[in-house]
Amino acid sequence: LSSEYPVEVDLPPPTELKPSYDVVIIGGGGHGLAIAYYLSKYHGITNVAVLEKAYLGGGNTARNTAVIRSNYLTSEGVRFYAESVKLFQNLSNEFDFNIMYSERGQLTLAHTDATVRAFRQRAEVNRHFGGRTEMIDRQQIRELVPTLNLDPGHLPVLAGLWHIDGATARHDAVAWGYAKQAAKRGVEIHQLTEVQDLVIEHGRITAVKTNRGTVKCGCAVQAIAGASSLLLAKAGIRAPIHTYPLQAMVTQPFKPFLDPLVSSSALHCYVQQTSRGEIVFGGGSDPYPLYNTRSTLDLKESLLAHAIEMFPFMANAKLMRQWAGITDMTPDYSPIMGLSPVQNYYLDAGWGTWGFKSTPICGKTMAELVASGGKVPDLIRPFALDRFSTFQQVNEMGATAASH
Ligand code: FAD
Repeated sequence: LSSEYPVEVDLPPPTELKPSYDVVIIGGGGHGLAIAYYLSKYHGITNVAVLEKAYLGGGNTARNTAVIRSNYLTSEGVRFYAESVKLFQNLSNEFDFNIMYSERGQLTLAHTDATVRAFRQRAEVNRHFGGRTEMIDRQQIRELVPTLNLDPGHLPVLAGLWHIDGATARHDAVAWGYAKQAAKRGVEIHQLTEVQDLVIEHGRITAVKTNRGTVKCGCAVQAIAGASSLLLAKAGIRAPIHTYPLQAMVTQPFKPFLDPLVSSSALHCYVQQTSRGEIVFGGGSDPYPLYNTRSTLDLKESLLAHAIEMFPFMANAKLMRQWAGITDMTPDYSPIMGLSPVQNYYLDAGWGTWGFKSTPICGKTMAELVASGGKVPDLIRPFALDRFSTFQQVNEMGATAASH
């Protein structure tokens, strides 16, 4: 491993766009870059351009709170995210670039009998499909997180879902690592290049129109997180996506006091301490659809009130930053991956508030899909767009909420 703290990535200097590529990937976030990397690494496909309208990883990849976990509710979800956790564990070695992967475990609090029952089911499903998750009682919670208030006002903690695989990583290093390795294999990465329209002829995409001209393509993938609906509309594709801001905030640094990630859906709050000692708070999405990354006082007040119920000493903490990203929510809180009604236009969308943790496995499986010319890998088959018309949704709402 390189011992250097990753602060920037060496990429080849910007070049002119070529008139045509085998694969155009729209969106230079973690997902788009991961697809490019796995295409070049496992399939020898390198005539690839990643087109990013702003700068690498400047979208939700750089805005998320970096929670990595696989303790989902459905067999489809657990299988998929557990594979991602495995890939994350070796990513620093694979990149020769430290993504600061840190396995701390995630503790989700149950405040009602109904939640305890649901958590028991989650623990069973997890164990069965590859996640390390178990129920723990109040005494075990006390030992794990001595600073946690187990009796916040009206909602005493009854038990916890302890997910040993819960982890964090430096999110932008993940984007940089993929970018560096993809570029080394010949992938072109074009920043400040916005895809403004799609050229679709006889049900196939033939080119994308950008602010730097038109580029022909053998096929294209859209991996643009909170902007998915905008390009789907250009492709004439309908998807049940609603777009909401999601905010987070961070305090001044403290001495290490909190190793696990702690979350409570009932309190709409999750808390973690970064390797720099800062405390990150996050919660649910804003309650109205909007394309805007402003921070609000409303969210700050409600989120911090709950955070202080969990960790009362934080009442004296100073907040350093608050920010937002734009998230594309689906009705079942699962992503949309795979084929689209446009024959050679592939979808990596609907990642809502939970897509950072899936970056490696989504990249790997989407690359398989693209390289095979449209054969959908088993792991992502359940997340097809047409599940919304065939009523085969993958309901992860209960396992997403304020846990991300
Ligand atoms: P992005 O990183 O957003 O990349 C998409 C890129 O596409 C952007 O860089 C954008 O500029 C570019 N783009 C958009 N339109 C165009 C266009 N027309 N042409 C060219 N480029 C375009 N997930 C977790 O797993 N764990 C968490 O703890 C977590 N916490 C979160 C906290 C917050 C506050 C937010 C906002 C999100 C959180 N998420 C979390 C969700 C996660 O961040 C996203 O699902 C994930 O980063 C999506 O990755 P991406 O590469 O698809 O998107």
